[in-house]
Formats: sequence, C-alpha cells, structure tokens
Amino acid sequence: MDTNITVYGAYWCPDCRQSKRFLSEHQIAYEWVDIEQDELAQIYVEKLNDGKRIIPTITFGDGSFLVEPSNAELAKKLGLATKDPHDFHEVTIIGAGPAGLTSAIYNARDGFSVMVVDEGALGGQATTTENLDNYPGFPDGISGSEWSQRVVEQAERFGVEFLRAQTVVGLRREHNGIWIKTGDGHEYGSCALLIATGADYRRLGVEGEEDYIGAGVHFCSTCDGPFYKNRNVAVVGGGYSAAEEALGLLRFANHVDLLVRSDHLKVSKLVADQVTETEQITIRYNTAVTKLVGSDGRLSGVQIENKETGEAEVLTPDGVFVFIGQQPNTGFLKDSSVLLDDYGFILTGHNLSQHSEWQRSGHEPEILETSVPGVFAAGDVRVGSTKQVTSAAGEGATAALLMRDHLNRT
Ligand SMILES: Cc1cc2nc3c(=O)[nH]c(=O)nc-3n(C[C@H](O)[C@H](O)[C@H](O)COP(=O)(O)OP(=O)(O)OC[C@H]3O[C@@H](n4cnc5c(N)ncnc54)[C@H](O)[C@@H]3O)c2cc1C
Repeated sequence: MDTNITVYGAYWCPDCRQSKRFLSEHQIAYEWVDIEQDELAQIYVEKLNDGKRIIPTITFGDGSFLVEPSNAELAKKLGLATKDPHDFHEVTIIGAGPAGLTSAIYNARDGFSVMVVDEGALGGQATTTENLDNYPGFPDGISGSEWSQRVVEQAERFGVEFLRAQTVVGLRREHNGIWIKTGDGHEYGSCALLIATGADYRRLGVEGEEDYIGAGVHFCSTCDGPFYKNRNVAVVGGGYSAAEEALGLLRFANHVDLLVRSDHLKVSKLVADQVTETEQITIRYNTAVTKLVGSDGRLSGVQIENKETGEAEVLTPDGVFVFIGQQPNTGFLKDSSVLLDDYGFILTGHNLSQHSEWQRSGHEPEILETSVPGVFAAGDVRVGSTKQVTSAAGEGATAALLMRDHLNRT
C-alpha cells in the first residue's frame, strides 16, 4: 500500500472531503494540505494541472497523481477489489455496515454464496465511532474501526466476497432474479437481496466539523450522551429531534445551549413549552454555527453568528450534538418497485400497509421484507429502525434467517 499520499484541497471543497473520508475510512494514512493556507502548494497544484487550480489533487509515492477522483478510481489506484469475479450469488447485500455484515456472516455460514457491495468503508457508520461503548461483550468499550475490522475478518472466514468502492445505482427484479447495477455499469444478480445502506446524519458543512467527529462533535445522544455527565453541551437544530435530544441530554449534562437557525422551534406547542420552560436549556434563535475550532485534536469552541445582527461569538461547550436530520441512502431505488415512506426510508412487513400504492397482490411480506419479493431491508435505512449498532446487527441476523427461508422456498 502506498504510504506517501498527499491530498491537496481546501476545507470548503466537498470532493476533497469525500476523498479524505474515503482514505480515513479505509485507514490509509495521508497528508492534508489546504492550498488556501500554502502558496507553494497552490503553485504546485496549478503546475500539475496545466495552470488550473483543480482540487482535490492527490499525489502518490510513485510520482503519479489523480485529480477529482471518484471513490472507485481512488480504490483502483490503491489496489482495492472493485470488481467481483462472479456475476451471480445466492445472496447479495448492499451495505457493509453492522446490518449487512451480520447478515453476510449468517448467510455465508449457512453455506450460501454471498457478495457484499459497499461504496465506502467496510463497517459503515460504525467505523466513525471513536468509542463503541454500548455494544455487548466489550466491557471497556471498543473503537468502531476495530469492531468493524473484527466483523469483516469473521465474514471473510466464511467466504463472503466483498466488492469495494462501488456504488449501487439501480435495482430490478426479473425472472425471479434480483439484479443490481453498480456505478461502473456492471450488473450482478442474486436470488435474495438485502438492502442495508443506512442513513447519513446531515452535517453542518462548516470548517472543523469533520476534524472533531467523535472528539467533541456528535450525532447520537444515546451513543455519546453518557460521556457528558455533569458537563455543558450545545445542541444544533430546531426540529423534533433537536428539541427532544436537548431534553434527553439533561439526564447527563448540566446545561444545554440549543442553537436554532430560525426564529422559532419547528415542533408542537407541547414540546416547545417543555423546552422553553426547562431552566437548564438556553435557546439561541437566529443562530448559525459558522466554524468548529479545536486544540490537541479535540473540539474547544463553537463559532456562532446571529443572523439578524451579524454579531459573532465563540461558545465553549464540552461537546456539540448536531441534530439537523437524517438522509436515508435510498436514492438508487427511485426507479425500482421498493416502496419508501415520505422521508425516503424503506417500508417493510406490516409498515407497507401504510403506503397508498401497496396492493397485496398475493405477496404477504415477512417482517423485514420489502414490497419486492425476495428483497429485504435491515438497519438504519428501514422505517422504524432504532439507529444503533446492536439493533442493526440484530436486524441483519433476522434478515439472514428470513432470506434462508426464502431461498429454501424458491
Ligand atoms: C459518529 C457516529 C457515532 C455513532 N456511535 C454509535 C455508538 O456509540 N453506538 C451505537 O450503537 N451506534 C452508534 N452510531 C450509530 C450506528 O453507527 C448506526 O446505527 C449503524 O452503523 C447502522 O448500521 P447499518 O448497517 O444500518 O448502516 P450503516 O452503518 O450506515 O452502513 C451502511 C453502509 O452502506 C453503504 N452504502 C450506502 N449507500 C450505498 C450504495 N448506494 N451503494 C453501495 N454502498 C452503499 C455505506 O457506505 C455504508 O458503509 C453512531 C453513528 C455515527 C455517525
């Protein structure tokens, strides 16, 4: 593996963040150079790109470089497997997070051929967890990346094939087979399929956010709230999740600054009253977070700006929790017959009856089965899931057993 990688970019550049994230998720060391802070680096990038300032430009130890690479191009350069030698498997799993990996272990251990496709790191969101403190069996907690590595090793022991750095862009069912299409145009078929693509926490997109995730910046209070016993925290957001999590965090924290972008909370009167009447919560309306600053690798300050007055201020909470919504990774299902709820989460089992387009047509879905026979969903991507590693793994195991029944029946 190349050990001399440099990423030239700027903090505001989303493609730079994507490449940095890809390298970090795969635990590949690199040097980051912000060309806006380094004139010589700017000149160097322009020299490589025939006078154009294109970022990210990524240089490698062998003297080669990539400009604005996709994850698949980056993976190819780094020698990760982006094609599977087999076009058809008994089970295909989209997403190598806790749900997908657990299902893969069960399915492969049952003797089925299994392929898992993932566009990012094997381990999913769990790899970004600094300290997974609530997964049973690890009394001192375990880092998310170590947990993921262990589960991947276990899956490999049972012969699971991994297709890495490939994004699934489409899904169709034909002649009892289910076909997925990956970003490179290749199609893979299977008899049963699990969608375990998770949901991304919406991020603020401000400077410093990526740098301090897990080190003062959090997206899950059930996961990380207990680290803030008797401390002060800030919560960002103005909807139900922010309001409810602000109240919930007071089980641990002494005080919460609730930073709301608009001039009101977008919640029912009941919830709004509850929040405003709680003394340990200070609500700051019209407040935008503009930067997260840190020292010694940890968050030390939250730079905010009042949108009405333009006044800037730096708060110094011990941690900040961002609750500005979740985005399920289901865009690739738009032309499929897999039914989603209004927010894009996948409907399974009895939840399907909520959907106006749902017609029984003789297909009685299993609890984790979608509107398409043989296609299952588990983990954060599913309506009603609880957004935890343990529950995602549990759903993965359940889905595997349901797929086993499906395979034995068909
Ligand atoms: C910072 C952070 C800290 C957390 N801390 C904890 C904690 O301490 N304890 C806890 O229980 N939970 C924690 N969570 C929540 C937990 O990580 C998730 O609930 C869990 O990972 C969900 O598992 P999943 O398998 O459903 O999906 P994910 O883990 O989201 O995995 C989905 C996978 O699908 C892939 N994917 C998505 N779309 C596509 C596509 N089109 N093609 C190919 N691949 C695709 C993604 O790359 C990803 O690898 C944390 C989450 C975050 C973000």
